[in-house]
Amino acid sequence: MPDTNKKPTPLELAREAHAANKGNGAKSLNPLEKAKAFPKSFRHACNAMCYQCIYDPLDKGSWRKQVKACTSPECALYTIRPQPVSTKAKTEED
Ligand code: SF4
Repeated sequence: MPDTNKKPTPLELAREAHAANKGNGAKSLNPLEKAKAFPKSFRHACNAMCYQCIYDPLDKGSWRKQVKACTSPECALYTIRPQPVSTKAKTEED
């Protein structure tokens, strides 16, 4: 029998909040919107620049995958450009 008095973990609470937001029609922000929401964030600024530079919604892959495929090593942002979240650990091996 499951323990019904058990307190939810922070992860469970976050998942519940995320599910509730999805149900409310809340939309996630794209990198440009995030940069505007957090104007002093270097990471959001860099993400927004690369997103603006290379992302084509009609092309295949997420914006992060398209940025990872960038072929402009002479760009000042090239070495710090955003990477797909699931492959961050593998980028050193690439
Ligand atoms: S690293 Fe690539 S995608 Fe990012 S701004 Fe430079 S050229 Fe554009």
